[in-house]
Amino acid sequence: MPRVVIVGGGVSGLATANCLDGVDLIVLEAAASAGGNVRTEHIDGRIIDKGPNGWLNTAPAMDRMLSRLGLSDVVVQANDKAHTRWIYADGKMHPAPLTPSAFFSTSLLPWWAKLRVLIEPFLPRGPEGVDESVAQFVARRLGQKFVDRMVGPMVAGIHAARPEDLSLASAFPKMAEMEAQYRSLFLAMLAKKRGGAPAGQLQTLPQGAGQLTDTMATRLGDRLQCDTAVEGLSQTKDGWRVHTAGGDFDAEAVVLACPAPVQAKLMRGLDAGVAEALDEIPYAPVTVVVSAWPSGTFDQAPSGFGVLAARGERVGVLGTLFTSETYPNQSKSGEILLRTMVGGAVHPAATKLDHQTLLGRVYDAHGLFFGKRRAEPTMVRAYHHPAGIPQYTVGHQSRVGAVCAAADRFGGLFFAGNHLGGIGVKDCVTTGEQVAANVRAWLELTAATEDGP
Ligand SMILES: Cc1cc2nc3c(=O)[nH]c(=O)nc-3n(C[C@H](O)[C@H](O)[C@H](O)COP(=O)(O)OP(=O)(O)OC[C@H]3O[C@@H](n4cnc5c(N)ncnc54)[C@H](O)[C@@H]3O)c2cc1C
Repeated sequence: MPRVVIVGGGVSGLATANCLDGVDLIVLEAAASAGGNVRTEHIDGRIIDKGPNGWLNTAPAMDRMLSRLGLSDVVVQANDKAHTRWIYADGKMHPAPLTPSAFFSTSLLPWWAKLRVLIEPFLPRGPEGVDESVAQFVARRLGQKFVDRMVGPMVAGIHAARPEDLSLASAFPKMAEMEAQYRSLFLAMLAKKRGGAPAGQLQTLPQGAGQLTDTMATRLGDRLQCDTAVEGLSQTKDGWRVHTAGGDFDAEAVVLACPAPVQAKLMRGLDAGVAEALDEIPYAPVTVVVSAWPSGTFDQAPSGFGVLAARGERVGVLGTLFTSETYPNQSKSGEILLRTMVGGAVHPAATKLDHQTLLGRVYDAHGLFFGKRRAEPTMVRAYHHPAGIPQYTVGHQSRVGAVCAAADRFGGLFFAGNHLGGIGVKDCVTTGEQVAANVRAWLELTAATEDGP
């Protein structure tokens, strides 16, 4: 009998397992292969990420994981030259103003919206104890135009979400802390000597983001069992029993690292309250359309990191990343490789369009971003993620609180996954590392109790 069963072989479950060296464990994964959202396909020499295209280099746990996997030396940093981020508004591309001088000269915001931003340091703190939405917080501090032109596109790009829905404290806790500690975001940036540019740099691996999960899976060897969907969970005298169609697994500890609706199903018979809290976490569908084009196809060659659509623009997609610029090794030479994100909570119905209509929408958006098109794509693929990204909506903190309380109540039961400790790959790895430490502590505690006087 393994001492630990981990349910779900996405990056969260794989990270937890890889931090438990020396522990007898098994990871049970429903799909035919591990990786969850983090998978990469190779097509005629191109490296195509189906889900994430990297992670930010800001998490020490991620650095430790890369080192554990022997990958630290091969990490690929996003091309420095591709740092310009664009926002499409009023029918044209604007560089995102990430420095004070760019902010003053940008045509993305009218003069009155810039003046509105300038009063931010003089505003009082917001109400205490209120779970504000991102839109409420930003409109209060920086004005509604800033929500529509700056934060809306960013929230759609990172969370595939609408700022009206997301909880500031859950989705952007650092921003909430900045106001709580310094009263003003500007004062906080001055104190921290940072501008408005996102912290950290995007990075990946030579064979794409999927190389991370592939290496994690390989390192686990026969401690990973695919094609094994967990269907039930119950408590036994000595610990836990995990039910699958092929038989049961008994263990001292169980880590649920599957998506929230699956965790809810497994918890329903044990704790209806936590099942309900998990069921209340919504997911936004996302489709990634990856297309390759001969260079020179467009009037304006894509240059920079990518473009996001401002709110109110009739673009029909969330935005497009210029992969051949960011990671030149992922495309064929003489080709432009683009990655267009469709749907999210912004236009969820778009992910259900039939293939040709979907492509038409993506190509129309490319026309808006890059002008006239002179060639047909040399490759195109659409990757559908019907339950793509969990939405940290207002009230999320209390749902996470209910999950943490359940973990405290049930000895030997642990929760991981992108619906709890952050949606980024690096966040999932960080949560996995923390959960693994808790599992070790539990195993030591139970062993000490068994050996006790
Ligand atoms: C389109 C897209 C783009 C993204 N881009 C980025 C990005 O650029 N950078 C970034 O940092 N993050 C990005 N993310 C977010 C990030 O990829 C995810 O948050 C992360 O991969 C989630 O990992 P996870 O293991 O928590 O969940 P999942 O990847 O969902 O893994 C859960 C696993 O559980 C398995 N499972 C389900 N039910 C059962 C069951 N009953 N029994 C056993 N196993 C089960 C599933 O098959 C799956 O393998 C993106 C996400 C999407 C969808």
